[in-house]
Amino acid sequence: MPAGVGIPRALLYYYYYPLWKEFFKTLGCEVIISDKTNKAILNDGLSHCVDEACLPVKLAFGHVLNLAAKKVDYIFIPRLVSVAKGEYICPKFLGFPDMVKHSLTGLPEIIDVTINMRLKHRELSKAYTQVGKLFTGNRVKIWQAYRRGEKALKRYNQLLLEGCLPEEAFAVMEGKQKQSKLNSHDLKIAVIGHPYNIYDPYISMNIIKRLNSMGARVVTADQLPEEVVRREAANLPKKLFWTLGQRMVGAGYSFVKDNNIDGIINIVAFACGPDSMTGELIARSSRKAGQTPFLNLTLDEHTGEAGVVTRIEAFLDMVRWKKSQQAAGLGSA
Ligand code: SF4
Repeated sequence: MPAGVGIPRALLYYYYYPLWKEFFKTLGCEVIISDKTNKAILNDGLSHCVDEACLPVKLAFGHVLNLAAKKVDYIFIPRLVSVAKGEYICPKFLGFPDMVKHSLTGLPEIIDVTINMRLKHRELSKAYTQVGKLFTGNRVKIWQAYRRGEKALKRYNQLLLEGCLPEEAFAVMEGKQKQSKLNSHDLKIAVIGHPYNIYDPYISMNIIKRLNSMGARVVTADQLPEEVVRREAANLPKKLFWTLGQRMVGAGYSFVKDNNIDGIINIVAFACGPDSMTGELIARSSRKAGQTPFLNLTLDEHTGEAGVVTRIEAFLDMVRWKKSQQAAGLGSA
């Protein structure tokens, strides 16, 4: 029977799932993902995680428990320290495997390999070799699995760049037809936020589909090439050493300059230290440029759907009004 490797549908899942899936499948494992976020998963996370943690980390706890209930053999939660030279990932990613191991009991074996590419890129393949050895002694097979994973990740990132949402991209990679996008939207809205916040339909209250249904086409940081994001982030007087924060700021600066963007919505998770700073940097840049309406939305476990919908509706009304004023030659008023 193949070993069952569980992957929480949270945090890094939105960045690396295609790589992990291909890697473990090639090694002969069965890959099991936790269920889509629902009230029970969130409540489980909230009741088992420390109060001080940010919402995505609490939610990830719920997904780990969901996998444990599925009786998987392993749960894969790598300890991500750095994914780029001279940069770091938010410390919550670093501490997450230890938080899980010390707060939850009766879990399957946790694969918590450390990935630290701050100094050398080859640390990544070394980390995957370490994981692969749990399933085979054949180093060539491990290398092949890793290469296949990398290839899958490249394809996934390309699909995101082309405008697919993660779940849609996963489906396309499974052989499903790519959905053609209707072009019936009169607004183009940039949504900035971590993938695990904006793409989780439950936690984001389905913001992307909701905006679509209100007549807005949505663009996110994932539709910007890496070099654009990094070039824009380089405008900061001091380089941010958080890779994900840099990504948010770079995308925000790019959207602020883009005349085709009608409005920007920045989604921040409650208790997220890095986001409180990056959100403010983007908001300042938007105010300074004075062009693009900006809405800051903070999500926490108590956020009511009705309140979010009202704020989005009011924001879009304001964006449309502003556009109509400009079209009538009345400036931004
Ligand atoms: S970046 Fe913010 S939201 Fe993401 S894990 Fe870190 S503290 Fe949580």
